[in-house]
Amino acid sequence: MAKKTLFCLLIMYSSTMRSSSALAMQVTSPKSVVVIGGGIQGTSVAYQLWKRSPSSKITILEAKGPASAASGKGGGFMARSWGDGGDTEGLHHVAFDMYEKLADELGCKTYRKLPVLSVAPGKDGRGTQKAKKKLGDIMPGWLDGNVGGVNVMGYGDDTAQITPKEFVEKMLEKSGVDVVIGECVGCATSDVTGGKEITGVNYIDRETQEEKLMEADAVVVSAGPWSCAAEDWFDTVDLPMEGVKSTSIVWKEQSNVDACALFCGEDYRFNTHLEVYPRPDSTIYICGIGGSDYISTEDLKQGAFREECNAKEDRVQAASDAFKEMSDTYRQSGELDRVQACMRPCPPDAKPYMGAIPGYKGAYINAGHNCWGIAWAPASGLAMAELIMEGDSSSINLKPFSPARFTRRATGGRGRKKGGEDVGEQW
Ligand SMILES: Cc1cc2nc3c(=O)[nH]c(=O)nc-3n(C[C@H](O)[C@H](O)[C@H](O)COP(=O)(O)OP(=O)(O)OC[C@H]3O[C@@H](n4cnc5c(N)ncnc54)[C@H](O)[C@@H]3O)c2cc1C
Repeated sequence: MAKKTLFCLLIMYSSTMRSSSALAMQVTSPKSVVVIGGGIQGTSVAYQLWKRSPSSKITILEAKGPASAASGKGGGFMARSWGDGGDTEGLHHVAFDMYEKLADELGCKTYRKLPVLSVAPGKDGRGTQKAKKKLGDIMPGWLDGNVGGVNVMGYGDDTAQITPKEFVEKMLEKSGVDVVIGECVGCATSDVTGGKEITGVNYIDRETQEEKLMEADAVVVSAGPWSCAAEDWFDTVDLPMEGVKSTSIVWKEQSNVDACALFCGEDYRFNTHLEVYPRPDSTIYICGIGGSDYISTEDLKQGAFREECNAKEDRVQAASDAFKEMSDTYRQSGELDRVQACMRPCPPDAKPYMGAIPGYKGAYINAGHNCWGIAWAPASGLAMAELIMEGDSSSINLKPFSPARFTRRATGGRGRKKGGEDVGEQW
């Protein structure tokens, strides 16, 4: 019995060694990679690729400007343990542990750890008085209006924040990654045994409006919600995506803005469930404003809300009123600095697409990171860089994030299928 087990183990060991060395032999690190999309996800992939292989040419192809969409307008909150037990646990853990070092390496001033409270809406100041007694120093000075129950969700050891725009800008500033401004409209390929391989990227130059070809031996689609357009570039994947378009507001800086994030319960007076993030520059960012719009895959493929994405006035009013109800300080002297809107990218199962696109050597996708696209960015960047340069990711299990998981498969019969669609014998 023991001998049999040992024999099996030896067979398993030798076949594992064989297959991994065969895989290692097959992997040729690309010399020139184009990352489509200059949000926090695309830039993190580019930055980690550059760190791993500084001699490779790494270019970001960005339609409008780096961090011009959700990565310039999102909150920037992160929580190490809030995905525990699920498929995204590794993304939360690895990214949280990387952020502190990266912020230091890049000289980001907006990263810090901070405590988090849950706050129920309330009609008078009694909740605030009770919470001050119960919570002491954690209770921020600016939470001095009407609230209900207040409880601690995190003491600041495993919750933190960063302003995503600064993080994107620093990664670009401190690396040898090039940025080209233009819209990707497809990928150039050539036929190889068993499929196709990437030879470049077709794009419209934003300044000249000319269509151009950028040569590359690998491409990473990381264009946030608009990444679903890639299902028309690669006929082996369906990439369903919904864009959830939401308004956010930022209050002007004030003195002594204590660092403490709030997650507020649904306030039916205003139809809000505010998320409140005071920032190190003493402004206060607020999202969770309600009234989001849901943008379809077809509209996203046409570039919906990429050029312009405006705040909803009624939601700005509701969020301001709801926050002033909670804060006498801001009721008396709060002034809005800016109002804005942006989209989070949501695949149907709320998990990102991360991996190689089947049938196309050198094609990858890293998109659809939903409401955690800022928090997970360093981990997805690292995992994708490992996959592209070494053939597999040792940091993150990418299996649950397979880009092919929604692809309708051919179901047999004589006709050939492209995805789920019958295309007869000729395809
Ligand atoms: C209101 C709000 C608050 C949020 N708060 C948080 C938070 O606190 N913490 C957190 O972790 N996450 C948060 N998120 C989610 C987070 O902002 C997103 O998941 C993240 O920014 C997505 O990053 P991305 O790089 O994938 O996409 P994006 O930031 O959308 O960037 C995609 C880029 O691709 C470019 N692009 C699109 N199509 C093309 C093309 N064809 N060719 C070239 N370029 C193209 C676009 O111009 C854009 O710059 C929030 C989201 C919203 C809406």
